[in-house]
Amino acid sequence: NQDAVASPSPSVSVFGNERRWADTTSYNTKKKLQAWFQLANGDWELGKIISTSGNESVITSDGKVLTVKSDSLVPANPDILDGVEDLMQLSYLNEPSVLYDLQYRYNQDMIYTKAGPVLVAINPFKKVPLYGNDFIEAYRNKATENPHVYAIADTAIREMIRDEVNQSIIISGESGAGKTETAKIAMQYLAALGGGSGIEYEILKTNPILEAFGNAKTLRNDNSSRFGKLIEINFSETGKISGARIQTFIFTVEQSRVVQCMEGERSYHIFYQLCAGAPSKLRDKLHLKSVNDYKYLRQSDCCSIDGVDDAVNFHIVKEALDIVHVSMEDQESVFAMLSAVLWLGNVSFTVIDSENHVEPVADECLVTVAELIGCKVEELKLPLSTRKMRVGNDTIIQKLTLSQAMDTRDALAKSIYACLFEWLVEQINKSLAVGKRRTGRSISILDIYGFESFERNSFEQFCINYANERLQQHFNRHLFKLEQEEYIQDGIDWTKVDFEDNQDCLNLFEKKPLGLLSLLDEESTFPNGTDLTFANKLKQHLQSNSCFRGDRGKAFTVSHYAGEVTYDTTAFLEKNRDLLHMDSIQLLSSCSCHLPQIFASNMLAQSEKSVVGPLHKAGGADSQKLSVATKFKGQLFQLMKRLESTTPHFIRCIKPNNNQSPRSYNQGLVLQQLRCCGVLEVVRISRSGFPTRMTHQKFARRYGFLLLENTNSQDPLSVSVAILHQFGILPEMYQVGYTKLFFRTGQIGMLEDTRNRTL
Ligand code: ADP
Ligand code: MG
Repeated sequence: NQDAVASPSPSVSVFGNERRWADTTSYNTKKKLQAWFQLANGDWELGKIISTSGNESVITSDGKVLTVKSDSLVPANPDILDGVEDLMQLSYLNEPSVLYDLQYRYNQDMIYTKAGPVLVAINPFKKVPLYGNDFIEAYRNKATENPHVYAIADTAIREMIRDEVNQSIIISGESGAGKTETAKIAMQYLAALGGGSGIEYEILKTNPILEAFGNAKTLRNDNSSRFGKLIEINFSETGKISGARIQTFIFTVEQSRVVQCMEGERSYHIFYQLCAGAPSKLRDKLHLKSVNDYKYLRQSDCCSIDGVDDAVNFHIVKEALDIVHVSMEDQESVFAMLSAVLWLGNVSFTVIDSENHVEPVADECLVTVAELIGCKVEELKLPLSTRKMRVGNDTIIQKLTLSQAMDTRDALAKSIYACLFEWLVEQINKSLAVGKRRTGRSISILDIYGFESFERNSFEQFCINYANERLQQHFNRHLFKLEQEEYIQDGIDWTKVDFEDNQDCLNLFEKKPLGLLSLLDEESTFPNGTDLTFANKLKQHLQSNSCFRGDRGKAFTVSHYAGEVTYDTTAFLEKNRDLLHMDSIQLLSSCSCHLPQIFASNMLAQSEKSVVGPLHKAGGADSQKLSVATKFKGQLFQLMKRLESTTPHFIRCIKPNNNQSPRSYNQGLVLQQLRCCGVLEVVRISRSGFPTRMTHQKFARRYGFLLLENTNSQDPLSVSVAILHQFGILPEMYQVGYTKLFFRTGQIGMLEDTRNRTL
């Protein structure tokens, strides 16, 4: 049956379009084989080839007979490979096959699948019977090999102890994909294995606190985290948890949500919890009203979440605060600040002169805010209606117009909340740093926004995607190292393996002085800089970088590892400048805030770092301070430095549909995420050299019967070599290692097809 033997695809290049690694060259001439064809809506369906003539093939699918273009067919894997646990095992690696494998498993509640060294987790949006003590025991005892977060956490612990190297679990994915839940599941496992001291209980209790203050209902996720976090769990020499530290980063917490959110979304959970759950004594003390009485909470027309009881959750949060040792007094101060933020949103203004300058109305709202933050009403009035500016050596006082005053009020509310959040994280860290013995090892869990590409991409996506580009490089390098080790171990010629690097794209961001970040900072300090002048500057200086393209008007495009993203520079400069008015800061640090000192000092520290924006431009040259992008880059470098000293484990979370509903698998949506989080890339890289590996024994056993002539020797290596020769597999398509044979993509698939038709 010689005609069935495909000549090997001449293209062995690792990167490039999917077709190449789909290895379709001579595929469609083979009859009876299964193949994927694409429906009009883009979904893939399985068909069986009946005949092929010219460039058309006749296939049957689901009882129907169809004619399709032969070159549009993509090879499907043999049935024995249905639902493989690791995408690396697929003979034909292509998008429809990967989609199918994940779906096949997802339909059976097997939401975890390996993609080489990466764990892919598909959000089930329902309770799946995969967690709890029995499962933890099974993974601890290695009684199961099913891919799982527990397995990742288990490997992390073992490697930490075995190699005495710190570990990290890096979780990424879109909003609503399940990152935070996955992080909690990993923590659960670590707590179960490293428990004993009681500190693990405290660590788990940080979750409800951080979620109350840092999560909100968005259109995409009822419990969306609006901050990135790294939690480092410390272990003693004996493998017991000894403490932990939480670091939040990327915009600390999304501040704008405090004063404004889209219809159907909510502000941070804690506000609703406080309004619904505070006992009457506290209500009176804080002058609390109900959610509908507050402008900040009322505006989005969404006060409750299906299936969520804010009052009950308030008590859960309070209990958690007790457990992490936030004193009663401090808790009350926290709640007072929350109430102050809500009342601040209700502060209104009246026009006081013919130039439309305004003053806050001294009503119940203003009085309550002043009382809650501990200042006089007059002291609060001033920064809400005026602004100090420096002109040369003089300070002048400028009155505010209505819109300026409202912005100032909102800015104050936002900074109070951001400081509160930071302060809280600090308190938690103090509580978790028991013993302060950092002699042992640690496992860090990173819960971070994944790569984002929307219709309209702004400064936030710009920062997030830059961070993901860095993480991707970290990932590539790690993978490279892993591969290298395996090849060297088996005596394979390492020089024939090629890897992709995204250094060009990182240079585009980081190069000084002509990189995206430098140019952004430069333009942000120019008094006359606008989004348009910024965009033009990029076009002027960056055209030579192959990852950059200037677009019409204010837009530009970056070729990220996960695809092209077009950014709209609107508001880039303003967001990068991070305004916080000195007057407000002074007010907060001088008033007898109920919150401890740290609050005030925190504020000052923040103000020193922030760029002084155009409102202060009269101040001149002394206003050169750190911008948001620069701070962000600094944080990112710190993070990378920490991660680089760890052995990483990667989890990519996938959202199967946009409705948060169970049992619904949208191929297009999944595919887009697989591309974005680089899952296909990973498998491709892992398979880029000689991805298919089989021991000499297994290979000889499996294909030996296809030999037309008996070999003299029965030893597996000789049999294997004879098979390779008979099938004319070219020398560049395989390598013979000490114990295994290593093949390029698609080679085994071809042998397997022959085997199946012969059997
Ligand atoms: P992300 O942090 O990626 O935005 P979340 O972790 O908050 O997403 O997950 C969103 C929602 O999806 C959760 O509130 C939960 O309802 C559901 N979910 C995620 N992972 C799981 C899981 N493993 N089992 C059950 N439900 C899950
Ligand atoms: Mg989250």
